[in-house]
Amino acid sequence: MPHQVRAHRFEGEVAIVTAATLGIGYAIAERLGLEGASVVICSRKKQNVEEAVASLKKAGVKNVVGIECQISNGDDQKRLIDFTLEKFGKITILVNNHGINPAFGDMMDLEDRTWDKLFETNVKSGWQLTKLVVPHMQKHGSGNILFNASIGGYVPPAMIATYAVTKTAVLGLTKALAKELSKYRIRVNAIAPGVIKTKMSKALWESGEQGLAEAQEISMGRLGVPEDCAGAVAFLVS
Ligand code: NAP
Repeated sequence: MPHQVRAHRFEGEVAIVTAATLGIGYAIAERLGLEGASVVICSRKKQNVEEAVASLKKAGVKNVVGIECQISNGDDQKRLIDFTLEKFGKITILVNNHGINPAFGDMMDLEDRTWDKLFETNVKSGWQLTKLVVPHMQKHGSGNILFNASIGGYVPPAMIATYAVTKTAVLGLTKALAKELSKYRIRVNAIAPGVIKTKMSKALWESGEQGLAEAQEISMGRLGVPEDCAGAVAFLVS
């Protein structure tokens, strides 16, 4: 739950937040929704979507709906866009929050199909969704797109290097799209979080958060939480 949400920056906006039934995506959906956006969330599992929608409503988000979407599936991507237009009539914000990390180990041991899955999900899907939403943002006259990259995109950590390289590509994609889409009054930004306490990063923090925060020289002395990211995202898409 965000500490204090007093602003109402997103009244009249319609936001899609991908992979948003948990963690950072959920917190972004909550923050945008509490600030007045109509929000569409998605993830692979119907039950997770239903539970997250119910939880967001309970937290005070007035207009929130959700749909199952395997983010790298082209048909699912189109369904997500059609569903949003059917429910809320426009799309003004796209948060490409999705990202997976199925591999842990040396890059030299990675199989081709895992490499492809990582790049398809983490990089290609965001580009594809952007292609699908841009015509609707153009129709609206402006828009905001945000990618969730990672600090690993700057300096790839060992054991998760391929994941990190996909995030380097996400940073490049963000810069390229920002240039290309500015002529339509569409802004494209990214966040690049350090370790955020979520299910995805559990293997890193479950044996001791304090030591990890110290090792990473985090001056607050604690790991990031999803709400930290949500605040930054709300600023960037406002
Ligand atoms: P998380 O808490 O584990 O949540 C993952 C979410 O993604 C869930 O809602 C999950 O729901 C959904 N999901 C997984 N695969 C999907 C797919 N193929 N299609 C659609 N939805 C999918 O993860 P998180 O830590 O918040 O990570 C979110 C983003 O932040 C990722 O892009 C990640 O790379 C980035 N990031 C995380 C950290 C960190 O330390 N946590 C740091 C930097 C960047 P279902 O299981 O129902 O599909």
